[in-house]
Amino acid sequence: MPDTKYVLAIDQGTTSSRAIVFDHSGQIVESGQIEHEQIFPRAGWVEHNAEEIWKNVREVVGLALTRANLTYKDLAAVGITNQRETAVVWDRTTGKPVYNAIVWQDTRTQKIADELGALGGGADRYKAKVGLPLATYFSGPKVKWILDNVEGARAKAEAGDLAFGNTDSWVLWNMTGGVDGGVHVTDPTNASRTMLMDLDTLSWDADIANDMGIPLSMLPEIKSSSEVYGKGREGGMVPGVPIAGILGDQQAATFGQACFEVGMAKNTYGTGNFMLINTGTSPVPSKNGLLTTVCYKIGDQPTVYALEGSIAVSGSLVQWLRDNLGIISSAPEIEELAKTVEDNGGAYFVPAFSGLFAPYWRSDARGALVGLTRYVNKGHIARAALEATAFQTREVLDAMNADSGVDLTELKVDGGMVQDELLMQFQADILGVPVVRPKVAETTALGAAYAAGIAVGFWNGEQDVIDNWAEDKRWEPAMADDERDRQYRNWKKAVTKTFDWVD
Ligand code: ADP
Repeated sequence: MPDTKYVLAIDQGTTSSRAIVFDHSGQIVESGQIEHEQIFPRAGWVEHNAEEIWKNVREVVGLALTRANLTYKDLAAVGITNQRETAVVWDRTTGKPVYNAIVWQDTRTQKIADELGALGGGADRYKAKVGLPLATYFSGPKVKWILDNVEGARAKAEAGDLAFGNTDSWVLWNMTGGVDGGVHVTDPTNASRTMLMDLDTLSWDADIANDMGIPLSMLPEIKSSSEVYGKGREGGMVPGVPIAGILGDQQAATFGQACFEVGMAKNTYGTGNFMLINTGTSPVPSKNGLLTTVCYKIGDQPTVYALEGSIAVSGSLVQWLRDNLGIISSAPEIEELAKTVEDNGGAYFVPAFSGLFAPYWRSDARGALVGLTRYVNKGHIARAALEATAFQTREVLDAMNADSGVDLTELKVDGGMVQDELLMQFQADILGVPVVRPKVAETTALGAAYAAGIAVGFWNGEQDVIDNWAEDKRWEPAMADDERDRQYRNWKKAVTKTFDWVD
Protein backbone atom coordinates (compact mmCIF):
# COMPACT_ATOMS: atom_id res chain seq x y z
CA MET A 1 0.00 0.00 0.00
CA PRO A 2 1.33 3.49 -0.83
CA ASP A 3 2.16 5.89 2.05
CA THR A 4 -0.74 8.15 1.14
CA LYS A 5 -3.84 7.31 3.14
CA TYR A 6 -6.77 8.63 1.13
CA VAL A 7 -8.55 8.50 -2.21
CA LEU A 8 -10.64 11.37 -3.54
CA ALA A 9 -13.80 10.79 -5.57
CA ILE A 10 -15.37 13.45 -7.73
CA ASP A 11 -19.10 12.84 -8.26
CA GLN A 12 -20.29 15.12 -11.03
CA GLY A 13 -24.05 14.55 -10.66
CA THR A 14 -27.19 15.89 -12.31
CA THR A 15 -28.03 18.42 -9.62
CA SER A 16 -24.68 18.97 -7.95
CA SER A 17 -20.97 18.23 -7.98
CA ARG A 18 -19.46 16.56 -4.94
CA ALA A 19 -15.96 15.67 -3.85
CA ILE A 20 -15.54 13.06 -1.14
CA VAL A 21 -12.35 11.94 0.62
CA PHE A 22 -12.38 8.23 1.57
CA ASP A 23 -9.99 6.40 3.86
CA HIS A 24 -8.71 2.86 3.43
CA SER A 25 -11.72 1.31 5.18
CA GLY A 26 -14.05 2.99 2.65
CA GLN A 27 -15.37 5.50 5.18
CA ILE A 28 -16.12 9.11 4.33
CA VAL A 29 -13.58 11.51 5.84
CA GLU A 30 -14.95 14.79 4.47
CA SER A 31 -16.86 16.11 1.50
CA GLY A 32 -17.82 19.25 -0.38
CA GLN A 33 -20.90 19.79 -2.54
CA ILE A 34 -22.19 22.60 -4.76
CA GLU A 35 -25.40 22.59 -6.80
CA HIS A 36 -25.41 23.94 -10.34
CA GLU A 37 -28.12 25.69 -12.28
CA GLN A 38 -30.77 23.61 -14.08
CA ILE A 39 -31.51 25.47 -17.29
CA PHE A 40 -34.92 24.88 -18.93
CA PRO A 41 -34.95 26.98 -22.12
CA ARG A 42 -38.16 25.36 -23.45
CA ALA A 43 -40.58 22.61 -22.47
CA GLY A 44 -38.65 19.34 -22.60
CA TRP A 45 -35.21 20.97 -22.85
CA VAL A 46 -32.73 20.59 -19.96
CA GLU A 47 -29.24 22.10 -20.05
CA HIS A 48 -26.24 22.66 -17.77
CA ASN A 49 -23.45 25.18 -18.10
CA ALA A 50 -20.35 22.99 -18.46
CA GLU A 51 -18.03 25.82 -17.38
CA GLU A 52 -20.04 26.27 -14.18
CA ILE A 53 -19.73 22.53 -13.57
CA TRP A 54 -15.95 22.63 -14.01
CA LYS A 55 -15.69 25.62 -11.67
CA ASN A 56 -17.82 23.81 -9.07
CA VAL A 57 -15.70 20.66 -9.36
CA ARG A 58 -12.57 22.67 -8.59
CA GLU A 59 -14.27 24.32 -5.63
CA VAL A 60 -15.65 21.12 -4.10
CA VAL A 61 -12.26 19.41 -4.33
CA GLY A 62 -10.78 22.36 -2.43
CA LEU A 63 -13.62 22.25 0.10
CA ALA A 64 -13.30 18.52 0.78
CA LEU A 65 -9.51 18.68 1.21
CA THR A 66 -9.64 21.77 3.43
CA ARG A 67 -12.37 20.32 5.64
CA ALA A 68 -10.37 17.09 6.00
CA ASN A 69 -7.27 19.15 6.80
CA LEU A 70 -5.44 17.40 3.96
CA THR A 71 -3.58 18.43 0.83
CA TYR A 72 -3.28 16.76 -2.56
CA LYS A 73 -0.07 15.13 -1.25
CA ASP A 74 -2.22 12.88 0.97
CA LEU A 75 -4.07 11.43 -2.03
CA ALA A 76 -3.14 8.09 -3.58
CA ALA A 77 -5.51 8.65 -6.53
CA VAL A 78 -8.57 10.46 -7.80
CA GLY A 79 -11.63 8.71 -9.25
CA ILE A 80 -14.39 10.32 -11.31
CA THR A 81 -18.05 9.36 -11.49
CA ASN A 82 -20.64 11.33 -13.39
CA GLN A 83 -24.14 11.88 -14.68
CA ARG A 84 -24.19 9.71 -17.78
CA GLU A 85 -25.43 10.58 -21.31
CA THR A 86 -25.26 14.34 -20.70
CA ALA A 87 -23.33 15.65 -23.71
CA VAL A 88 -20.64 18.33 -23.68
CA VAL A 89 -19.08 19.49 -26.94
CA TRP A 90 -16.09 21.78 -26.59
CA ASP A 91 -13.43 23.43 -28.73
CA ARG A 92 -10.03 21.82 -28.09
CA THR A 93 -8.22 25.01 -29.14
CA THR A 94 -10.03 27.42 -26.80
CA GLY A 95 -11.20 24.98 -24.11
CA LYS A 96 -14.72 26.49 -24.33
CA PRO A 97 -17.92 24.49 -24.77
CA VAL A 98 -19.66 25.41 -28.04
CA TYR A 99 -23.09 25.00 -26.43
CA ASN A 100 -24.54 24.23 -22.99
CA ALA A 101 -24.34 20.58 -21.96
CA ILE A 102 -27.51 18.80 -23.14
CA VAL A 103 -28.72 16.81 -20.14
CA TRP A 104 -29.86 13.18 -20.21
CA GLN A 105 -33.47 14.18 -19.39
CA ASP A 106 -33.68 16.50 -22.41
CA THR A 107 -36.19 15.37 -25.06
CA ARG A 108 -35.29 17.69 -27.97
CA THR A 109 -33.76 14.84 -30.00
CA GLN A 110 -37.06 13.03 -30.53
CA LYS A 111 -37.15 13.98 -34.21
CA ILE A 112 -33.55 12.87 -34.73
CA ALA A 113 -34.29 9.53 -33.02
CA ASP A 114 -37.38 9.04 -35.23
CA GLU A 115 -35.40 9.89 -38.39
CA LEU A 116 -32.65 7.44 -37.49
CA GLY A 117 -35.24 4.73 -36.86
CA ALA A 118 -36.80 5.50 -40.24
CA LEU A 119 -33.50 4.61 -41.96
CA GLY A 120 -34.60 1.03 -41.20
CA GLY A 121 -35.10 -1.04 -38.10
CA GLY A 122 -37.19 1.44 -36.14
CA ALA A 123 -36.39 2.07 -32.47
CA ASP A 124 -34.30 -1.11 -32.29
CA ARG A 125 -32.09 -0.17 -35.26
CA TYR A 126 -28.86 -0.26 -33.20
CA LYS A 127 -29.98 -2.38 -30.26
CA ALA A 128 -28.08 -5.55 -31.14
CA LYS A 129 -24.79 -3.60 -31.29
CA VAL A 130 -25.19 -1.03 -28.51
CA GLY A 131 -27.82 -2.57 -26.20
CA LEU A 132 -30.05 0.53 -26.31
CA PRO A 133 -33.27 1.51 -28.08
CA LEU A 134 -33.35 4.78 -30.03
CA ALA A 135 -34.53 7.29 -27.42
CA THR A 136 -33.85 10.89 -26.49
CA TYR A 137 -31.96 9.70 -23.40
CA PHE A 138 -28.62 8.82 -25.01
CA SER A 139 -25.70 11.05 -26.04
CA GLY A 140 -25.19 10.41 -29.78
CA PRO A 141 -28.31 12.19 -31.05
CA LYS A 142 -27.60 15.07 -28.63
CA VAL A 143 -24.19 15.54 -30.28
CA LYS A 144 -25.85 15.46 -33.69
CA TRP A 145 -28.28 18.15 -32.54
CA ILE A 146 -25.37 20.41 -31.51
CA LEU A 147 -23.54 19.87 -34.81
CA ASP A 148 -26.76 20.53 -36.76
CA ASN A 149 -27.86 23.60 -34.80
CA VAL A 150 -24.84 25.50 -33.51
CA GLU A 151 -23.45 27.82 -36.15
CA GLY A 152 -20.05 26.71 -37.42
CA ALA A 153 -19.95 23.61 -35.21
CA ARG A 154 -20.02 21.05 -37.98
CA ALA A 155 -17.17 22.66 -39.91
CA LYS A 156 -15.07 22.84 -36.76
CA ALA A 157 -15.89 19.22 -35.91
CA GLU A 158 -14.85 18.11 -39.38
CA ALA A 159 -11.58 20.04 -39.02
CA GLY A 160 -10.87 18.05 -35.84
CA ASP A 161 -11.22 21.04 -33.51
CA LEU A 162 -14.16 19.82 -31.44
CA ALA A 163 -14.24 17.23 -28.69
CA PHE A 164 -17.25 15.41 -27.28
CA GLY A 165 -17.50 13.92 -23.84
CA ASN A 166 -19.87 13.10 -21.04
CA THR A 167 -18.98 15.09 -17.95
CA ASP A 168 -16.35 12.50 -16.92
CA SER A 169 -14.31 13.33 -20.03
CA TRP A 170 -14.91 17.06 -19.65
CA VAL A 171 -13.64 17.03 -16.04
CA LEU A 172 -10.71 14.71 -16.84
CA TRP A 173 -9.61 16.79 -19.85
CA ASN A 174 -9.64 19.95 -17.77
CA MET A 175 -7.93 18.35 -14.76
CA THR A 176 -5.11 16.94 -16.84
CA GLY A 177 -4.25 20.15 -18.68
CA GLY A 178 -7.14 21.32 -20.87
CA VAL A 179 -5.81 23.19 -23.92
CA ASP A 180 -2.28 22.39 -22.69
CA GLY A 181 -2.41 18.67 -23.42
CA GLY A 182 -5.51 17.50 -21.53
CA VAL A 183 -6.22 13.78 -21.80
CA HIS A 184 -9.38 13.01 -23.84
CA VAL A 185 -10.53 9.68 -22.47
CA THR A 186 -13.67 7.94 -21.22
CA ASP A 187 -14.45 4.49 -19.85
CA PRO A 188 -16.71 1.76 -21.31
CA THR A 189 -19.57 2.42 -18.85
CA ASN A 190 -19.95 5.98 -20.09
CA ALA A 191 -19.26 5.03 -23.70
CA SER A 192 -21.99 2.37 -23.52
CA ARG A 193 -24.56 5.18 -23.03
CA THR A 194 -23.72 7.12 -26.18
CA MET A 195 -25.33 4.69 -28.70
CA LEU A 196 -21.98 4.85 -30.49
CA MET A 197 -20.04 2.01 -28.82
CA ASP A 198 -20.09 -1.64 -29.89
CA LEU A 199 -20.76 -3.61 -26.70
CA ASP A 200 -18.67 -6.61 -27.77
CA THR A 201 -15.53 -4.82 -28.95
CA LEU A 202 -15.74 -1.72 -26.68
CA SER A 203 -14.84 0.44 -29.68
CA TRP A 204 -16.67 3.23 -31.48
CA ASP A 205 -18.89 2.03 -34.31
CA ALA A 206 -18.07 3.94 -37.49
CA ASP A 207 -21.38 3.09 -39.20
CA ILE A 208 -23.53 4.47 -36.38
CA ALA A 209 -21.33 7.56 -36.06
CA ASN A 210 -21.73 8.01 -39.80
CA ASP A 211 -25.53 7.72 -39.60
CA MET A 212 -25.46 10.50 -36.99
CA GLY A 213 -22.91 12.61 -38.89
CA ILE A 214 -20.49 12.54 -35.96
CA PRO A 215 -16.77 12.60 -36.92
CA LEU A 216 -14.85 9.90 -35.02
CA SER A 217 -12.15 12.47 -34.24
CA MET A 218 -14.54 14.09 -31.73
CA LEU A 219 -14.84 11.00 -29.60
CA PRO A 220 -12.71 10.25 -26.53
CA GLU A 221 -10.42 7.24 -26.38
CA ILE A 222 -12.12 4.36 -24.52
CA LYS A 223 -9.91 2.99 -21.74
CA SER A 224 -10.87 0.70 -18.85
CA SER A 225 -12.74 1.91 -15.75
CA SER A 226 -9.69 1.43 -13.52
CA GLU A 227 -6.24 2.50 -14.74
CA VAL A 228 -4.09 5.64 -14.63
CA TYR A 229 -5.38 7.94 -17.40
CA GLY A 230 -3.17 10.88 -16.51
CA LYS A 231 -2.10 13.08 -13.63
CA GLY A 232 -3.45 16.29 -12.20
CA ARG A 233 -1.82 19.18 -14.07
CA GLU A 234 0.87 21.31 -12.47
CA GLY A 235 -0.67 24.38 -10.90
CA GLY A 236 -4.05 22.62 -10.67
CA MET A 237 -5.90 21.36 -7.63
CA VAL A 238 -4.26 17.92 -7.44
CA PRO A 239 -0.87 18.32 -9.20
CA GLY A 240 0.79 15.02 -10.03
CA VAL A 241 -1.94 12.87 -8.43
CA PRO A 242 -2.95 9.93 -10.67
CA ILE A 243 -6.48 10.12 -11.99
CA ALA A 244 -7.18 6.45 -12.13
CA GLY A 245 -10.88 5.55 -12.16
CA ILE A 246 -13.95 6.46 -14.22
CA LEU A 247 -17.39 4.89 -13.82
CA GLY A 248 -20.76 6.31 -14.87
CA ASP A 249 -22.74 7.11 -11.72
CA GLN A 250 -25.03 4.08 -11.77
CA GLN A 251 -22.25 1.65 -12.53
CA ALA A 252 -20.15 3.28 -9.80
CA ALA A 253 -22.95 2.67 -7.30
CA THR A 254 -23.18 -0.96 -8.44
CA PHE A 255 -19.43 -1.28 -7.84
CA GLY A 256 -19.61 0.52 -4.48
CA GLN A 257 -22.43 -1.85 -3.43
CA ALA A 258 -20.11 -4.79 -4.16
CA CYS A 259 -22.45 -6.35 -6.76
CA PHE A 260 -19.67 -8.48 -8.23
CA GLU A 261 -21.53 -11.73 -8.72
CA VAL A 262 -23.97 -12.59 -11.49
CA GLY A 263 -27.51 -11.81 -10.25
CA MET A 264 -26.53 -9.18 -7.68
CA ALA A 265 -28.46 -5.92 -8.08
CA LYS A 266 -28.76 -2.43 -6.62
CA ASN A 267 -31.25 0.39 -7.03
CA THR A 268 -30.22 4.04 -6.70
CA TYR A 269 -32.88 6.62 -5.75
CA GLY A 270 -31.69 10.03 -6.92
CA THR A 271 -33.07 12.50 -9.46
CA GLY A 272 -34.19 9.40 -11.33
CA ASN A 273 -34.00 5.75 -10.33
CA PHE A 274 -31.61 3.23 -11.79
CA MET A 275 -31.54 -0.47 -11.06
CA LEU A 276 -28.62 -2.55 -12.36
CA ILE A 277 -28.12 -6.29 -12.20
CA ASN A 278 -24.72 -7.85 -12.84
CA THR A 279 -25.04 -10.32 -15.75
CA GLY A 280 -21.41 -11.45 -15.96
CA THR A 281 -18.88 -11.30 -18.79
CA SER A 282 -21.18 -11.37 -21.80
CA PRO A 283 -23.88 -8.87 -22.72
CA VAL A 284 -27.46 -10.15 -22.23
CA PRO A 285 -30.09 -8.72 -24.60
CA SER A 286 -33.36 -7.64 -22.96
CA LYS A 287 -36.81 -8.71 -24.08
CA ASN A 288 -38.54 -6.63 -21.42
CA GLY A 289 -37.54 -3.01 -21.92
CA LEU A 290 -34.23 -3.00 -20.06
CA LEU A 291 -30.93 -1.67 -21.36
CA THR A 292 -27.84 -3.79 -21.91
CA THR A 293 -24.87 -1.86 -20.65
CA VAL A 294 -21.28 -2.19 -19.43
CA CYS A 295 -21.12 -2.62 -15.64
CA TYR A 296 -17.35 -2.14 -15.24
CA LYS A 297 -13.99 -3.13 -16.64
CA ILE A 298 -11.06 -3.29 -14.25
CA GLY A 299 -7.75 -2.82 -16.11
CA ASP A 300 -7.23 -5.68 -18.55
CA GLN A 301 -9.67 -8.04 -16.78
CA PRO A 302 -12.74 -9.19 -18.76
CA THR A 303 -15.57 -6.71 -19.21
CA VAL A 304 -18.52 -7.21 -16.85
CA TYR A 305 -21.98 -6.33 -18.21
CA ALA A 306 -25.31 -5.40 -16.63
CA LEU A 307 -28.98 -5.10 -17.41
CA GLU A 308 -30.39 -1.75 -16.36
CA GLY A 309 -33.85 -0.40 -15.67
CA SER A 310 -33.76 3.39 -15.93
CA ILE A 311 -36.55 5.53 -14.50
CA ALA A 312 -36.34 9.18 -15.53
CA VAL A 313 -38.25 10.79 -12.65
CA SER A 314 -38.21 9.77 -8.99
CA GLY A 315 -36.51 12.24 -6.60
CA SER A 316 -37.06 15.01 -9.15
CA LEU A 317 -40.82 14.59 -8.58
CA VAL A 318 -40.14 15.53 -4.95
CA GLN A 319 -38.24 18.58 -6.21
CA TRP A 320 -41.18 19.42 -8.45
CA LEU A 321 -43.59 19.34 -5.50
CA ARG A 322 -41.16 21.67 -3.71
CA ASP A 323 -40.31 24.07 -6.57
CA ASN A 324 -43.36 24.05 -8.84
CA LEU A 325 -46.21 23.46 -6.36
CA GLY A 326 -44.59 24.72 -3.16
CA ILE A 327 -46.41 22.17 -0.98
CA ILE A 328 -43.14 21.34 0.78
CA SER A 329 -40.15 23.61 1.36
CA SER A 330 -37.45 20.92 1.42
CA ALA A 331 -37.23 17.39 0.03
CA PRO A 332 -37.20 15.56 3.41
CA GLU A 333 -40.49 17.31 4.36
CA ILE A 334 -42.32 15.08 1.92
CA GLU A 335 -42.09 12.22 4.41
CA GLU A 336 -43.77 14.27 7.18
CA LEU A 337 -46.48 15.40 4.79
CA ALA A 338 -47.06 11.85 3.57
CA LYS A 339 -47.33 10.64 7.18
CA THR A 340 -50.30 12.96 7.80
CA VAL A 341 -52.46 10.43 5.94
CA GLU A 342 -52.89 6.66 6.15
CA ASP A 343 -52.68 5.86 2.46
CA ASN A 344 -52.80 7.47 -1.00
CA GLY A 345 -56.57 8.11 -0.75
CA GLY A 346 -56.99 6.55 -4.20
CA ALA A 347 -54.55 8.95 -5.93
CA TYR A 348 -51.84 7.73 -8.30
CA PHE A 349 -49.16 10.04 -9.73
CA VAL A 350 -47.28 8.90 -12.85
CA PRO A 351 -44.43 11.39 -13.33
CA ALA A 352 -43.87 10.89 -17.06
CA PHE A 353 -42.26 14.34 -17.35
CA SER A 354 -39.64 13.13 -19.86
CA GLY A 355 -41.85 10.45 -21.36
CA LEU A 356 -41.55 7.04 -19.74
CA PHE A 357 -38.25 5.17 -19.70
CA ALA A 358 -38.02 1.51 -18.60
CA PRO A 359 -39.82 -0.69 -19.26
CA TYR A 360 -42.08 1.34 -21.62
CA TRP A 361 -39.78 3.69 -23.59
CA ARG A 362 -42.77 5.89 -24.51
CA SER A 363 -41.58 9.36 -25.47
CA ASP A 364 -45.21 10.35 -26.14
CA ALA A 365 -46.12 9.94 -22.46
CA ARG A 366 -46.63 12.92 -20.14
CA GLY A 367 -47.38 13.04 -16.41
CA ALA A 368 -50.77 12.20 -14.92
CA LEU A 369 -52.30 12.49 -11.46
CA VAL A 370 -55.38 10.27 -11.42
CA GLY A 371 -57.96 8.88 -9.01
CA LEU A 372 -58.76 12.34 -7.63
CA THR A 373 -61.85 13.03 -5.52
CA ARG A 374 -62.82 15.85 -3.14
CA TYR A 375 -61.32 13.67 -0.39
CA VAL A 376 -57.74 13.88 -1.73
CA ASN A 377 -55.48 16.39 0.04
CA LYS A 378 -51.83 17.37 -0.19
CA GLY A 379 -50.84 14.54 2.16
CA HIS A 380 -52.27 12.02 -0.31
CA ILE A 381 -50.47 13.72 -3.18
CA ALA A 382 -47.17 13.57 -1.25
CA ARG A 383 -47.77 9.89 -0.62
CA ALA A 384 -48.71 9.23 -4.24
CA ALA A 385 -45.49 10.97 -5.31
CA LEU A 386 -43.35 8.75 -3.08
CA GLU A 387 -45.27 5.65 -4.06
CA ALA A 388 -44.64 6.44 -7.75
CA THR A 389 -40.96 5.69 -7.19
CA ALA A 390 -41.79 2.35 -5.56
CA PHE A 391 -44.25 1.31 -8.28
CA GLN A 392 -41.83 2.21 -11.07
CA THR A 393 -39.16 0.18 -9.29
CA ARG A 394 -41.53 -2.80 -9.11
CA GLU A 395 -42.04 -2.61 -12.88
CA VAL A 396 -38.29 -2.67 -13.43
CA LEU A 397 -37.78 -5.54 -10.99
CA ASP A 398 -40.45 -7.58 -12.78
CA ALA A 399 -38.63 -6.96 -16.07
CA MET A 400 -35.32 -8.06 -14.53
CA ASN A 401 -36.80 -11.22 -13.14
CA ALA A 402 -38.31 -11.99 -16.55
CA ASP A 403 -35.08 -11.26 -18.48
CA SER A 404 -32.76 -13.12 -16.12
CA GLY A 405 -35.11 -16.02 -15.34
CA VAL A 406 -34.23 -15.76 -11.63
CA ASP A 407 -36.18 -13.90 -8.95
CA LEU A 408 -34.23 -11.34 -6.97
CA THR A 409 -34.34 -12.17 -3.25
CA GLU A 410 -33.36 -8.79 -1.84
CA LEU A 411 -32.59 -5.32 -3.15
CA LYS A 412 -29.60 -3.18 -2.13
CA VAL A 413 -30.52 0.50 -2.23
CA ASP A 414 -28.75 3.85 -2.09
CA GLY A 415 -29.13 7.52 -3.17
CA GLY A 416 -30.73 10.61 -1.63
CA MET A 417 -34.27 9.21 -1.34
CA VAL A 418 -33.30 6.20 0.78
CA GLN A 419 -33.31 8.43 3.85
CA ASP A 420 -37.09 8.34 3.46
CA GLU A 421 -38.22 5.51 5.75
CA LEU A 422 -41.85 5.64 4.63
CA LEU A 423 -40.75 5.14 1.03
CA MET A 424 -38.36 2.30 1.93
CA GLN A 425 -41.08 0.41 3.83
CA PHE A 426 -43.56 0.91 0.99
CA GLN A 427 -40.88 -0.26 -1.44
CA ALA A 428 -40.36 -3.52 0.45
CA ASP A 429 -44.17 -3.93 0.63
CA ILE A 430 -44.72 -3.42 -3.09
CA LEU A 431 -41.78 -5.59 -4.15
CA GLY A 432 -42.43 -8.36 -1.67
CA VAL A 433 -38.67 -8.68 -1.00
CA PRO A 434 -36.47 -7.07 1.68
CA VAL A 435 -34.82 -3.72 0.95
CA VAL A 436 -31.30 -3.24 2.36
CA ARG A 437 -29.44 0.05 2.91
CA PRO A 438 -25.64 0.04 3.44
CA LYS A 439 -23.82 2.10 6.08
CA VAL A 440 -22.05 4.21 3.46
CA ALA A 441 -24.98 5.48 1.39
CA GLU A 442 -22.65 7.51 -0.91
CA THR A 443 -22.02 4.39 -2.95
CA THR A 444 -21.63 6.29 -6.22
CA ALA A 445 -18.60 8.25 -5.05
CA LEU A 446 -17.36 5.20 -3.17
CA GLY A 447 -17.43 3.07 -6.33
CA ALA A 448 -15.35 5.63 -8.20
CA ALA A 449 -12.90 5.82 -5.30
CA TYR A 450 -12.52 2.03 -5.34
CA ALA A 451 -11.94 1.96 -9.11
CA ALA A 452 -9.16 4.56 -8.74
CA GLY A 453 -7.68 3.03 -5.59
CA ILE A 454 -7.55 -0.46 -7.10
CA ALA A 455 -5.68 0.91 -10.14
CA VAL A 456 -2.85 2.29 -7.98
CA GLY A 457 -2.69 -0.61 -5.49
CA PHE A 458 -4.29 1.33 -2.61
CA TRP A 459 -6.89 -1.46 -2.50
CA ASN A 460 -6.12 -4.97 -3.67
CA GLY A 461 -9.28 -5.61 -5.61
CA GLU A 462 -12.96 -6.49 -5.31
CA GLN A 463 -12.46 -8.47 -2.08
CA ASP A 464 -11.54 -5.26 -0.24
CA VAL A 465 -14.81 -3.71 -1.44
CA ILE A 466 -16.78 -6.74 -0.21
CA ASP A 467 -15.00 -6.67 3.16
CA ASN A 468 -15.73 -2.98 3.66
CA TRP A 469 -19.45 -3.20 2.77
CA ALA A 470 -21.73 -3.14 5.85
CA GLU A 471 -25.50 -3.19 6.29
CA ASP A 472 -27.17 -0.23 7.99
CA LYS A 473 -30.87 -1.07 7.86
CA ARG A 474 -33.26 -3.63 6.36
CA TRP A 475 -37.00 -3.27 5.62
CA GLU A 476 -39.07 -6.46 5.44
CA PRO A 477 -42.26 -6.64 3.36
CA ALA A 478 -45.36 -6.36 5.56
CA MET A 479 -48.24 -5.84 3.11
CA ALA A 480 -50.84 -8.56 2.42
CA ASP A 481 -50.56 -10.09 -1.07
CA ASP A 482 -54.06 -9.07 -2.20
CA GLU A 483 -53.48 -5.45 -1.16
CA ARG A 484 -50.14 -5.38 -3.00
CA ASP A 485 -51.81 -6.77 -6.11
CA ARG A 486 -54.68 -4.29 -5.90
CA GLN A 487 -52.37 -1.29 -5.61
CA TYR A 488 -50.11 -2.47 -8.41
CA ARG A 489 -53.10 -3.05 -10.70
CA ASN A 490 -54.25 0.53 -10.05
CA TRP A 491 -50.79 1.83 -10.79
CA LYS A 492 -50.71 -0.03 -14.12
CA LYS A 493 -54.08 1.50 -15.02
CA ALA A 494 -52.76 4.96 -14.14
CA VAL A 495 -49.75 4.44 -16.42
CA THR A 496 -52.04 3.86 -19.42
CA LYS A 497 -53.49 7.36 -18.90
CA THR A 498 -50.11 8.97 -19.71
CA PHE A 499 -49.81 7.70 -23.30
CA ASP A 500 -50.33 9.71 -26.52
CA TRP A 501 -49.90 13.19 -25.12
CA VAL A 502 -47.48 14.52 -27.72
CA ASP A 503 -48.93 15.76 -31.02
P1 ADP B 1 -28.51 12.96 -7.73
O1 ADP B 1 -27.23 12.26 -7.40
O2 ADP B 1 -29.32 12.32 -8.83
O3 ADP B 1 -28.37 14.42 -7.93
P2 ADP B 1 -29.22 12.37 -4.93
O4 ADP B 1 -28.84 10.94 -4.77
O5 ADP B 1 -28.43 13.42 -4.23
O6 ADP B 1 -29.47 12.77 -6.44
O7 ADP B 1 -30.74 12.46 -4.40
C1 ADP B 1 -31.39 13.66 -4.40
C2 ADP B 1 -32.85 13.42 -4.71
O8 ADP B 1 -33.47 12.79 -3.60
C3 ADP B 1 -33.57 14.73 -4.94
O9 ADP B 1 -34.30 14.61 -6.14
C4 ADP B 1 -34.49 14.89 -3.74
O10 ADP B 1 -35.74 15.42 -4.14
C5 ADP B 1 -34.65 13.48 -3.20
N1 ADP B 1 -34.70 13.42 -1.73
C6 ADP B 1 -33.77 13.84 -0.85
N2 ADP B 1 -34.15 13.61 0.41
C7 ADP B 1 -35.36 13.01 0.34
C8 ADP B 1 -36.29 12.50 1.31
N3 ADP B 1 -36.02 12.53 2.61
N4 ADP B 1 -37.45 11.96 0.85
C9 ADP B 1 -37.71 11.90 -0.47
N5 ADP B 1 -36.88 12.35 -1.41
C10 ADP B 1 -35.73 12.90 -1.02
